[in-house]
Amino acid sequence: MKRWVATIDLETLEVESDPSFKFKCVENCGKCCEELEIPLRDEDIAKIEELGYNAWEFVDYEKLFYRGDKFLGYALKKRPFDDACIFLDPETKRCKIYNHRPLACRLYPFVFVK
Ligand code: SF4
Repeated sequence: MKRWVATIDLETLEVESDPSFKFKCVENCGKCCEELEIPLRDEDIAKIEELGYNAWEFVDYEKLFYRGDKFLGYALKKRPFDDACIFLDPETKRCKIYNHRPLACRLYPFVFVK
């Protein structure tokens, strides 16, 4: 059964959540950064560009997210050799842009529904 567990203020990114729902990553295996497709909002792209990256380096313009017929955005690029996100450090399994990571990554394991 699907239910609302949190709401997020898109201006401040403040999350208000159901306190009965708990989630803590205990493995730090990096699998979520390897197996999932990450949607990018325009704001996510702008924030990563502030770090000095060009959009063509990290935006996969061939993967598109739609809800019904509404275009939502493009996907974060994957590496060709292991299919992981290009920002995942292959050795430490840490995110190289952690403080600037996209909203979808911040919310995981929740899924953002506008
Ligand atoms: S941006 Fe960071 S947190 Fe998001 S999928 Fe890539 S490595 Fe993982």
